[in-house]
Amino acid sequence: MILDYVRRLLIVFLLALCVSIMFFTGKIAKAETNKITEETVSWTFPVEGMITDSYGTRSGTHKGMDIGGDIGSPVYSVAKGKVIRSYLSPSYGHVVFIRHENGYETVYAHLESRLVEENQEVGQGQQLGNLGNTGRSTGAHLHFEVHRGEWTIDKENAIDPYMVFGQGEVGQLVFAQERDPYQAVGVSGTAEITHDVSTKEVHINENMVYHVVHKGETLWGISQQYNISVEDIKSANGLIETNLVVNQSLAIPQSAGSGYVVKQGDTLYSISVAEGVDVNDLMAWNGLDLKSPIYPQQVLNIQ
Ligand SMILES: [Zn+2]
Repeated sequence: MILDYVRRLLIVFLLALCVSIMFFTGKIAKAETNKITEETVSWTFPVEGMITDSYGTRSGTHKGMDIGGDIGSPVYSVAKGKVIRSYLSPSYGHVVFIRHENGYETVYAHLESRLVEENQEVGQGQQLGNLGNTGRSTGAHLHFEVHRGEWTIDKENAIDPYMVFGQGEVGQLVFAQERDPYQAVGVSGTAEITHDVSTKEVHINENMVYHVVHKGETLWGISQQYNISVEDIKSANGLIETNLVVNQSLAIPQSAGSGYVVKQGDTLYSISVAEGVDVNDLMAWNGLDLKSPIYPQQVLNIQ
């Protein structure tokens, strides 16, 4: 009887030990992924646009970062290197692979056009091609991958681009040939890089917003949310089927008069002045108060 009790106590103790080990190793792993790698500290963003999907989504199968933007926007090499592949792939579309001096490789996919050839040396910020929607892609975006080592079919060397540019999030604007405006802070050996967004023109298509599909959403539901037709969403994204994939990024065309697309530097007051409406009305129509944050690409109702 007592032996049985001791045995039970021992099992509980061992279970607790296992759980705490799992907890601590999990914590360590998390801390590692948030750390910016020293080898890539000088890298700059490949294109101007908005982060529409991040690494590790789609049940872990998405091994890169998606940046939505205008078709034709220049796509640049994030660092000095050599073009090791430049071709048209059925899945990546027009794609360029760059091998960098430190052994890293970067991939620039779904391009509209390519401007570099295999074996060509490229400098940091050199244009590789133009943003597009080729290959297995819905909507204009750059799919960007970082590999610590060689690119392989299993992508086992792929790392989260947030380890290069710093932790960002979906919906964040990024600027070509620059580091993330919200990061590069706290990296040893580099000064804080500030970014004056107020003087920088943002060339994201002002008539488009991007919607990242969540579980359970339908095209019809999304069309209601943005007050446009299902057909308009389908044509803007070249969709034939109405099936959506979780985390898929949809371009949503904004027809004139349906709302106001928030730009960098806007405030509720500046919008109310620009639109000739009362700021209190603007807040009421959108369920906002003066403390509510607004963000670029958000659509506000103007009635
Ligand atoms: Zn992608």
